[in-house]
Amino acid sequence: MKKKVIVAIDGPSSSGKSTIAKLVAKHFNFTYIDSGSIYRAITYLALKNNLVKTDSIDVVSLIDLLNNCSISFSFNSINQNIINIDDVSVENEIRTFEISNNVSLIAEKNKVRKYVLKIQKDISKNKSVVMDGRDIGSVVFPNADFKFFLDASLDIRSLRRWNELKLSEKDLKFEDVKKDLLKRDENDINRKFSPLIRTKDSILIDSDQLNIVEVVSQIINIINKEIKNK
Ligand code: C5P
Repeated sequence: MKKKVIVAIDGPSSSGKSTIAKLVAKHFNFTYIDSGSIYRAITYLALKNNLVKTDSIDVVSLIDLLNNCSISFSFNSINQNIINIDDVSVENEIRTFEISNNVSLIAEKNKVRKYVLKIQKDISKNKSVVMDGRDIGSVVFPNADFKFFLDASLDIRSLRRWNELKLSEKDLKFEDVKKDLLKRDENDINRKFSPLIRTKDSILIDSDQLNIVEVVSQIINIINKEIKNK
């Protein structure tokens, strides 16, 4: 196998990217990078500092804040990434409905995307990675060795996300989760900079009828086949 391999996994919200990407990374002993968590950490900072007004963001103050703190990953004993702000984990804080509800407003800002791009490039230097997100195969690593686009219907994705969030947010309604996903998809697809698109050279996997193990083994087989032919 060549020294450094980049696997890009893109797709809409709750299409199963992070679960799948983690398992693929584990199989090949690559590093998994959850790029959405960087946007979530920035959203957490923006909310905490009152920089999010109704549908507008104080981008100048946000960038100033970002230039004066550090967002980094650490890895736990099973090589999972933990996102940190100034070396303190915010892994739990960034998974709330409030963050999900505001993150795409932050992610559409070009200055924020440039800041995140640098983190994504730096962290992937000299190592094989599986990175998931919205623009990994299109913008972050247009020359990735493998590009996958994971999709599933809105109902299936909403159900998966609702089941996950319900564990900590008991009063959350299915319809609200569905509305949030729809809004996020629309924002991610229609934004000006780095929109969510399926690149022509990516492999589409629709997981409506597939379970996690089936999707993971499809991806592993594709990667193995290619590696053997090299
Ligand atoms: O993957 P996750 O749902 O955690 O991502 C949160 C949000 O971050 C997405 O809805 C999207 O707006 C943004 N994002 C992005 N580009 C990426 C990863 C995430 O715009 N590469």
